[in-house]
Formats: sequence, structure tokens, C-alpha cells
Amino acid sequence: MELLKSLREEQRSPRLYRLRFESAALELEFRDWQRRRHTVARVALFVVLGLAFALTAVFDEGLFAVPADSVATLRALQLGLLLPMTAIGAVISYIDISPRHQRTVQTIAVSGIWSGVLVIRALALHDGFNVPALFFSIVVIAVAFFGGFTWYRIVSGVAIFTFAGVIVEYTQQHAAFDAGLQTYGLLWMALIAAAGSYTHELLSRLAWLNWRYAKVLAATDGLTGLLNHYEFHRLFQRVLAQGAREERKIAVTLLDLDHFKSINDRYGHLFGDRVLREIGALLNREFAQRPLDLRARYGGEEMAIVWYDIQPEALPAMMEGVLDAIRNLPFVDPASDTRVRVTASAGLCWVQADENTATEKVLHAADLLLYGAKADGRNRARLAPFADCLPASELPLPAAIAAQKKLLQG
Ligand code: GH3
Ligand code: MG
Ligand code: MG
Repeated sequence: MELLKSLREEQRSPRLYRLRFESAALELEFRDWQRRRHTVARVALFVVLGLAFALTAVFDEGLFAVPADSVATLRALQLGLLLPMTAIGAVISYIDISPRHQRTVQTIAVSGIWSGVLVIRALALHDGFNVPALFFSIVVIAVAFFGGFTWYRIVSGVAIFTFAGVIVEYTQQHAAFDAGLQTYGLLWMALIAAAGSYTHELLSRLAWLNWRYAKVLAATDGLTGLLNHYEFHRLFQRVLAQGAREERKIAVTLLDLDHFKSINDRYGHLFGDRVLREIGALLNREFAQRPLDLRARYGGEEMAIVWYDIQPEALPAMMEGVLDAIRNLPFVDPASDTRVRVTASAGLCWVQADENTATEKVLHAADLLLYGAKADGRNRARLAPFADCLPASELPLPAAIAAQKKLLQG
């Protein structure tokens, strides 16, 4: 619920337009997603740039009418700077180092490429051959759109290199080229790179927020804020499998509110909803907080708790803690101003799972125990190891119901 709320707030926050989330944790998560999502595009960008530089190295003498004594310098720049930088940029995207170091190396690679192209332009102006300033613009725009760098990084890079480009145009001015016109072109390029990458990042952030929101929403029960039935089954299966792998004991509890129908009938469904909401919040706040623990709304007024890596001796106290916390919730009927006591019954079964343990059987065992607790008089729990429930839970349905009835009686 907390996460849903903060995602909704981020969607509406004016800080979205400043390309920063309010929550530092969400910002970090987004950056990580952005980085992973852009890996392929970034590698493609460096590979395409590398190929373009290699091709111009083959054709440039004729294409740009490079004078014979400029060729050596031009080659040194192409083969000694541009190609190695594109290779480093591509390879580093796949190497398993910290994102920070990866970013630093990529920034160096991009700066190297931009500087190289700029120096080639300066060389062309100085030696009187024609490498259009447009080439520099294309390289800058390609990085701004496909590099997946944050907007702030792109804008500062673009500002520095546009400024350097303008200086090159004016200081290396050649009679045949108009520095003013080239500067005009460079400024347009800078504007397009900055505005385009801003829109790009803003849309990325919005798309990520919507996707993240939808993902949490699809897993959460809207009333209680607990996991919903679908997500509970999905995760419970994984938790059991992990328990089998690590040889840990797992406890699963099915919890059912007592006489909840009468509570609804007496105080109204809105009151009933409030009870469910507050019990959901209580479970989320105080119980089963370890990373592999689960808290879910199983059905109407039934909830499930999974504790990972438990000691059976500790379970009665843990279970009683939950039932007691529910008993002590201070519900008051506004009409009569009287205290309404809500209680629950629970069935808890623990298991040392192996790869053959079926989730349905474990849940079925907890369900049988829950029926037992109801039969015992409600407001209490029945606990048992899975192995003890196995005979009943393994029976085919009609026989299981008969066994359940017997359990109810005895
Ligand atoms: P028992 O002690 O045997 O469990 O009795 P009970 O009355 O709790 O059991 P029963 O299954 O007859 O009733 C469950 C009730 O839970 C009926 C249904 O109206 C109520 N319920 C289920 N979901 C919701 C909900 O989302 N909001 C409200 N207010 N009530 C709900
Ligand atoms: Mg029920
Ligand atoms: Mg009930």
C-alpha cells in the first residue's frame, strides 16, 4: 500500500518534470532499469559509430579531398582514438563492473569520440578540406537519443562540446566556410539533442512508473494491502521450493475471522471492510517481516501467513501473538459507541519441504486444521506438522471431507 501510494504520488509530482523522483529508492530502481534496458541500444550505438568511422577511414581521401600531408594525422585520430573509444564503449556495457564505473568509462568513451570528431573538423578547416560540421552533429544526436545517459549528463556534455565546436569554427575559420552559419547549425543541433533527450527521459520515467504501478497493483489486494490470492500462490510455490533447497522449515497459517457475517449484518459492510483493512495493515506492519515471509488475503475474510525458516517450538507463541493482536484491535461501533471485539481462528501447519511437496496439500492441511480450530470453539489455533496431516490431506476429495468431519467432531 505504501509503495502504491508513493508511486501514485510520483506520477503527479512536479519533480517528475525535473527528472528526479521524490523517493531515493525509486530513483535508484529506475536508474538501474534504465541502464539494463539500454544495454543493447548502447552497444548498437557504439558498434554503428565504430563501423562508420572505419568506413570513412577507407573512403575519406576521395570523399573529403584530403590533402596528402593531412592523411597521417587523420588516420592517427581515426585508428588511435575514435575506433578504440567505440570499442571500449561497446565492450564495457557487457562487463560485469559496478554501474558507477561503467558510467564513468562510457562518459570517457563518448567524450573521446566527440573530441576526436571535433579535432577532425578543426584539422579539415585548418588544412582546407571539407568534413562537414553536420558529421559532428549527427554523432552528438545519436549519443543523446540512443546512449541511455541521464538528461543532465547529456545536456552538460552537449553544452561543452557545442561551445568547443563554436570556438573551432571561429578560430580555424577558412575563407571557404562561413563560421556564423556553422555556429547556427551547431546551436540547432544542441537544442534538438537537449530537448529530444529530455522528452525521451520524461517518457521513460512515465512508462516505468506506470509499469511499476501496474505490477504492484496486480499483486496487491486493494482492500487489505496484503498479497492477493494469485500472487500468494505464485510466491508460496517459490518459497516452498527455496525451503526444500535450503532445507528450512516453513509454517503456513490460514486464518479466518470468527462470525464475520454477523459483524457485517450487525454493523454494516463498511464497518466490516474497515475491520479487514485494519487487520491487513496490522499483519503488514507487525508480522512475517522476513524477506521470504508472506502475508496474503486468501479469500473474503480469510488470510494466509507464511513464515520461512521457523523453529516448531516457537510457533505456538508466534501464532498466539497474531490472534492476540487481532483481539486487541480497538474497533468501536460509531452508532452505539461500544467496543466491537473481533476474533479469528487459525490452522497452522509446518513442513520441511522436499521437491515432491505439493503446495495444495500443505494448504489443504492448514485448511483442515482451521476447520478443527473452528470446531474447537473459535478464537484459537490448531497447529500440527504437515506429516501428521498428510493422511487426511492425501485422501481423495469425498474421503477428505469425511476425515474433515471427523476432525470437526474430535
Ligand atoms: P465463521 O466463524 O464460521 O467463519 O463464520 P463467518 O460468519 O465468518 O463465516 P461465513 O463464511 O459465513 O461468512 C464470511 C463473511 O465474510 C461473509 C461475507 O459477507 C464476509 N466478507 C467477505 N469478504 C468481505 C469484504 O470484502 N468485506 C466485508 N465487509 N465482508 C466480507
Ligand atoms: Mg471464511
Ligand atoms: Mg469466518
